[in-house]
Amino acid sequence: MATGFFHDERTLWHFGAIHTGNIPAGGWVQPSNGNFMAEAPDPKRRIVSLLEVSGVMAKLDRRGAEPADDEALRRVHPRDYLDRFAAMSAGGGGSVGPDGSFGPGGYDIARLSTGLAVAAVEAVLTGALDNAYAMTRPPGHHCLPDQGYGFCLLANGAIAVEAAIARHQLSRVAILDWDVHHGNGTEAIFRDRPDVLTISLHQDNCYPINSGAASERGSGRGEGYNLNVPLLPGGGDQAYLNALDLIVAPALRRYRPELIVIASGVDANALDPLARMLAHSETFRAMMARAKALADELCGGRLVAIHEGGYSEVYVPFCAHALIEELAGVRSAVADPVLEFVRAQQPGDAMRALQRRLLVEQAETLDFAARA
Ligand code: ZN
Repeated sequence: MATGFFHDERTLWHFGAIHTGNIPAGGWVQPSNGNFMAEAPDPKRRIVSLLEVSGVMAKLDRRGAEPADDEALRRVHPRDYLDRFAAMSAGGGGSVGPDGSFGPGGYDIARLSTGLAVAAVEAVLTGALDNAYAMTRPPGHHCLPDQGYGFCLLANGAIAVEAAIARHQLSRVAILDWDVHHGNGTEAIFRDRPDVLTISLHQDNCYPINSGAASERGSGRGEGYNLNVPLLPGGGDQAYLNALDLIVAPALRRYRPELIVIASGVDANALDPLARMLAHSETFRAMMARAKALADELCGGRLVAIHEGGYSEVYVPFCAHALIEELAGVRSAVADPVLEFVRAQQPGDAMRALQRRLLVEQAETLDFAARA
């Protein structure tokens, strides 16, 4: 038994829109040298590289996967969306929605990315692996059923969860989304359903704008099974760990999931160009430790992390490496070169007290007894 690491080099060949920094090039924005993409392959490739040079990869069960098949995709996406996407892909590329650009073969690469998530969940549910990390690219949590969104072209995590429900007759799956942006796609897909609990921790009103308010808690039969935990910009390490302790842990204990899936963006890191949250590698390690403990307590350790965002070429690898080490229960000699620098920038007492008070208030609204 082991921790699986699902990866395929071809996912790093996906080509999105040309950006300068995090802004689409064009108009007043001069193109940068090197056709830099905001959702570039480099941060993800460097995760894989760091795992290899640290020796951690040798302790993981490294696997690939088949592209997700039509049956799996169709549980989430309508036929006309898939046909439109496939036709554009065959024609050299295009866009299937806001920040939804792709190059030649983008559809096949996206299906492969989804396939990694599906295979990771399946291997954990069959007991072939203890837990798993799916190194998906393009990501998935912003994607809507009929529209790509926010660099996400297929809803990787939602498709993997739907496949698990179909194959294993699950009645309670929890998706914990700690990508720094709101998991609006996952929310939209499961908003009306009680069999999937979605919890999104995100920087308040970062992306998409006007999305992910704490008051959005699902609808119909899904009322109460969709939680949003917006965090103040700059909240840092404490904001995330308090959110896990005050909201996520009691929500999961009340729900008692049979499987926990993490939408594992690492863009809450302090150096990320697409957010302002000041988390560091030890934040991610501690978050994974909490998620793992909850999975052990509630669902026999069945835990799958599916990669989402993370855009700092230098810092994403250290943050992802720390949480993958924690998932696998191993430690290497890798040291975070900016940990001291980021720890020194954590918010002061007044900000920390305010963020904590907001989380305690939300926990009370949800009838979770706030613990000291
Ligand atoms: Zn993100």
